Amino acid sequence: MKTIGLIGGMSWESSAKYYQLINQEVKKQLGGLHSAKCIMYSVDFAEIQRYQAEDEWEKAGHVLGDVALSLEKAGADFIIICTNTMHKVIAYIEEKISIPILHIADATANQILKSDVRTIGLLGTKYTMEQDFYKSRIESNGIKVLVPNQEDREVINRVIFEELCLGNIQQSSREYYQKVIKSLIDDGAEGIILGCTEIGLLIRPEDAEVPLFDTTVIHALEAVKLALE
Ligand code: GLU
Repeated sequence: MKTIGLIGGMSWESSAKYYQLINQEVKKQLGGLHSAKCIMYSVDFAEIQRYQAEDEWEKAGHVLGDVALSLEKAGADFIIICTNTMHKVIAYIEEKISIPILHIADATANQILKSDVRTIGLLGTKYTMEQDFYKSRIESNGIKVLVPNQEDREVINRVIFEELCLGNIQQSSREYYQKVIKSLIDDGAEGIILGCTEIGLLIRPEDAEVPLFDTTVIHALEAVKLALE
């Protein structure tokens, strides 16, 4: 079994989910007392979030690059970055290490391609919904990506940082997300990417009429697949 290196803490609410999903899947596949070989370096999210807000992505990239190097030195065979947003700085991370990074958008696109869905709605932080680093990676697979309107993007983003990353799950926010999902479906979305690793804490499969692609689950299971190959 390969050792998975997890860059976590963004936020720790979703990193805990990754840890659970990865171990459950290894147990499911290998049985008995088997569990995942993994190393998690959990950062202080307040520091990373400040760099995001100040548009200091390069600095955040160097912090995460040093984290990745620590994981490599500790024995990780490959890395997963447990947040969609911070894949924006993957190039800064990759340049510091010699082990591969399993990209969350590639894992998600591969999962979408296994279904009939070719037009997808994307929910995530404002950085993920508005900037090109994520959408274009999905679209390069021939999948059309729709994002909510500006007002909805602001609410979706605020709920992520002010509620979900703090472990605060509100029914009113769930209903707002459902409303946004409905309007993406009206615009032609045949499925929805939960493109922020905390959204799965709020939105469950029964909350939408179309298939949901939960990036946390997809990424964690893909990591196990690679670890057991
Ligand atoms: N976990 C989130 C994501 O998947 C948001 C936190 C962050 O900005 O890294 O994008």
